[in-house]
Amino acid sequence: MIYFDHNATSPLLPLARQAWLEAAEQFIGNPSSPHRLGSRADAALTAAREQLAGILDCDSPDIVWTSGATESNNMALHHWAASRESAEEVWISAIEHPSVLEPAKSYFPKQLRLIPASRSGTVDLNWVRDRLRRKRPACVAVMAANNETGVLQPWPELLALCREEDIPFFCDATQWIGKLPAKGLGQCDFVSGSAHKFGGPRGVGFLKCPAQGRVQPLLFGGQQEEGRRAGTENVAGVLSMMAALEAREAALRRGEIEMRLRWRRQFERLLGEALPGSVVVGAGQERLWNTVSALMPEADGRQRWVVKLDKLGLAVSTGSACASGREEPSHVLAAMGYAPSEASRALRFSGGWETTEEEWTALSAGLVKVHRGMQPARV
Ligand code: PMP
Repeated sequence: MIYFDHNATSPLLPLARQAWLEAAEQFIGNPSSPHRLGSRADAALTAAREQLAGILDCDSPDIVWTSGATESNNMALHHWAASRESAEEVWISAIEHPSVLEPAKSYFPKQLRLIPASRSGTVDLNWVRDRLRRKRPACVAVMAANNETGVLQPWPELLALCREEDIPFFCDATQWIGKLPAKGLGQCDFVSGSAHKFGGPRGVGFLKCPAQGRVQPLLFGGQQEEGRRAGTENVAGVLSMMAALEAREAALRRGEIEMRLRWRRQFERLLGEALPGSVVVGAGQERLWNTVSALMPEADGRQRWVVKLDKLGLAVSTGSACASGREEPSHVLAAMGYAPSEASRALRFSGGWETTEEEWTALSAGLVKVHRGMQPARV
């Protein structure tokens, strides 16, 4: 099976698997235990915290280990809900992942303002600039790269705007980290990331949050993580995640995304030529090197595309893993101004670091084949 659903989850890297096995054998103690085996596990976590802080460019006490980005995102919003003045607005982009949007709707039913997005898939910086002249929100949340379209968001500009006004800025960097250099993200007040998006294991991630001042915990019942997140830490998971992240950061330093960007662009060209009527979403924008969201020609429902491609040995998705399966149009495409009839033609192809040029070519060939099969027979 050729796998084009890395934005949903990426296979475990062999070196991350190795790191997990070694850590599970080496660090058998609970990091909170008073004996040496406990201290060793705790020291391993401290070293990993320093390693991640170095990559993100922040202080190591700012890192809280979590079970993944869904928890990290919920934790950030829970913190804001517990610490803000009740009348203040909360600004969150309309294209956030549901693990940001849904808690935001639940915590801030009246004060939530959605930052609009353009047709090309970026959030509207001018909306933020204009509104800042009149209002001061309790916090602003915009992701680094969108999981459905791959479009990169202007988080450095938003961070700078928030800095000027001393407003906390939260960046869900789940799709960015491990695909693009993470340096600088640590300057955001809150940042979330998840290991299984870049070759680490599932069920482990982190939230970078201010160590100074009290972060309101989401989970109670233990003093782990300086009282910010109760529960025994996943030491092997954390060390395995860091092994994967180091490997990805090293590949980035070697400039290994250039050729992958070329493969993605070549695929898009082939798609445009072979499937007239297909549209690459966010085509003119800077996007992740691995992601193509495309509207298929008006041939058939996208679920049928997925099934037919699957039969050809190609695993693709209709959007985010959480939304696919439900046939509701994507909230991301809706926010970008696509009509439900257009959004219902969207497929998402997301490769990974291990995806080859041949696999991108096989994907375009598969799409052409499925498309031909869908054409009415000529008489
Ligand atoms: N945020 C974004 C942007 C994502 O793409 C995802 C995963 N689809 C999440 C959050 C949730 O991550 P996790 O699976 O680690 O809970």
